[in-house]
Parts: sequence; structure tokens; C-alpha cells
Amino acid sequence: MNITKLKKLSYDEVVKCNKCGFCLPSCPVYLVEKKESASPRGRNAITRAVIEGRLDMSHDTERAIFSCLGCGACKQVCLSSVETKDLIFRDRECQVGEGLYPKIADRVVAFLKEEHNITDDDNEERGEWQDLIKDLPERAFEKARAEVIFFVGCVASFFPMAQNIPVNMSRIMLSAGVDFSILGGEEWCCGFPLIGAGMPNEMGELKEHNMEKVEEVGAKTVVFTCPSCYHTWKHLYELNDVNLYHSSQFIDQLIKDGRLKLKKKNAVTVTYHDPCDLGRNTGVFDEPRNVLRAIPGLTLVELPLNRQLSMCCGGGGNVEMVNPELSAAIAQMKIDEIRSTGADMVVSACQQCLRTIATRARKQKIDLAVKDLTELVAEAME
Ligand code: SF4
Ligand code: SF4
Repeated sequence: MNITKLKKLSYDEVVKCNKCGFCLPSCPVYLVEKKESASPRGRNAITRAVIEGRLDMSHDTERAIFSCLGCGACKQVCLSSVETKDLIFRDRECQVGEGLYPKIADRVVAFLKEEHNITDDDNEERGEWQDLIKDLPERAFEKARAEVIFFVGCVASFFPMAQNIPVNMSRIMLSAGVDFSILGGEEWCCGFPLIGAGMPNEMGELKEHNMEKVEEVGAKTVVFTCPSCYHTWKHLYELNDVNLYHSSQFIDQLIKDGRLKLKKKNAVTVTYHDPCDLGRNTGVFDEPRNVLRAIPGLTLVELPLNRQLSMCCGGGGNVEMVNPELSAAIAQMKIDEIRSTGADMVVSACQQCLRTIATRARKQKIDLAVKDLTELVAEAME
């Protein structure tokens, strides 16, 4: 994108920012960095100055524009409803157009081109997590036809720390008698990392391939345990007559339909972290809470910042990739907030939240139980 196009797409929006600063305390990046250029207001000022020709794009603007988590918390408190996140993501496209962007993104683009996943693993190994299920015949979930496709996502497919999520989701669907399939090596990254990298135009091939595979399997429903995959499909994929659900919505419905019985009492107090792309950015707040409340013996206590006001875990917007220290500092704020509730554990519904929070806790030797919603549900089925 060039500055002329940026002006066309962003100017009317960015001039809505009246510089009041109400958004500053809601921005996790600003809370850590304490610099105007790291705040939503500062980034809007940068966007406006670039469009008006008062500021050139540079490595300084690169730092400011690529340190946003894309969490959307700023818009939530903004009386002018400025779409700061969208403005910043368009700025990223412009920075890429000028060649001013974190070059680590080029590696991810190359991985996506060669292997169609973010980790550069052999994509044929996407379904390897099935080996974690005892006595399951090899590749049992990779079927030619099914009513439902479970789109696993790169992180849960390849990061051992998150592989329990597809294992548990599969056990839940098996228990409820859902006719589902995974795409295995034919599942390609949904393209979300390219949006955060300012390269959304590169995601066409990934998108087309995934849509084609859903059609081939004949599924009328796609289920996601990853909020960012779900968000990307929901907002950027063009599918006719196919229903998309996040796992929390799907499980909530299975419970309501009486297809899933949660029996085992679990006397535990949990707090729930709303993932940004599931909650604020897609509007799914009640279903994960419904599921938690359906677990016998479980008590839910809310985080001080919950639902629309939830604070990002630090894992959004590719910040973990370009500035791991910043991401870790935000994860620490999240952990402090979690501990203030006195809950026995934090539950989320996102593999990236799980990874970010659990990794920080482990590195700091903080005794904190972090689980995905699917794990608690699977435990309660036993
Ligand atoms: S983005 Fe909204 S809340 Fe933040 S300074 Fe601008 S007008 Fe105020
Ligand atoms: S989207 Fe999140 S990280 Fe980015 S400016 Fe807004 S509050 Fe800050």
C-alpha cells in the first residue's frame, strides 16, 4: 500500500481522534513502555502526520506501528470509536510498501510459501498430535467425507505445549457422536499471521486452498479451537452455506442439546481470560462461560478486566515475534491480574493465550495452572 491509498482508506477515520487520551490506560503496550508513541493516541498522531506529509515513514515509525497487539482494547473505551487497530494494520501495509518492517516477517512468509505453516515443519506432520491419543488407529481423524471439519491451526498442530487442545477437542466430539474430520497435511495456515505482518495480500493462496478442501470434504460446519483462525475465516473467507463455530460455541451447543454429559465433579475455582480475537474482536463472551458453569463443582470468578475490557495476554499482533521482551512484560501484567482473583487456575479458549501465559509463568517460576477450556471439559467427561 502507498501513502495515497492509506490516505483514502484511513484519513477520515484518523481525524476522529480528538487526542483526549482516554485510551491510554487500556493499552497494555503503553502501560509497559510509557511512551506516547507506544499509545493508541500516539500511533494515531503518527498515522495522521504521515498522511499529511509532516512525517516520513522510518525505523522509528516502524517500531511504533509494529508494537501494537491488535487487541482492540483502545476502541472499546474511545468515545469517538476510533478504529485504531485497523488504522495500525493498514499502516503496517504501508510500512511494508516502503520496505520498513521487521524482517523476521520474511521468514514467516517463506515458511508459509514452502510448508504452509508458521513453524517450517513438514506440513504432512500436522496431524501428528493424533498419536497422543491411546489406541487410536493411525490418522483416524483424516476422513474423506464428514459433516464437520475441525480446523486445528498451526500453533496447536505443531507446538507440543498446545497439542492437548486438539486431543481434547477430538475426545469431546467423539463423546458427543459428532461426525468430524481434520484436514491433516491438507490444512494450510489460515493466513492470520500475514495480516499482523502487514501483508494481507499474500494470503490468497492459503485462503483458496482451505476453502476448496472444506468443499471437497462436503462439510457444512467448520469448528476452530483457535480464535484467530476463527476470526480470520469469519471476516475474510467467502463461504456459502458453511457454518463457522469456535469450539466454545460448539461445545456449549452440544451441552444444551444433551449430547455431551459432564459428570465428574471438579471442585475448583477458575478465572476466565477472554482472548481478544474471540471476545472483543468477534463478540463471543457468553458461550465459554456457559460451558464453564456447566462443569459440576466449578466456581467461576471474573478477572477485574473481563469481557469487552479484557487485557491482552501479550501474544497478539505478532508482537511476540518482533519484540519478545514487550510480549513477556504484558504477559506478566496478565499473570498479576489473574493472581489477584485468588482463583486456582486460569482458563482460556485460545492456544496462543495458553502458550504466552504458561511460558511466562514457567520462566518466572510462578506456580500458576493454565488450561484451555477443552481440557476442563474433557476432564469433566470422565
Ligand atoms: S483514540 Fe479515542 S480515546 Fe484515544 S485519544 Fe483518540 S479519541 Fe481519545
Ligand atoms: S489495539 Fe491494543 S495494543 Fe494496539 S493500540 Fe489499541 S490497545 Fe494498544
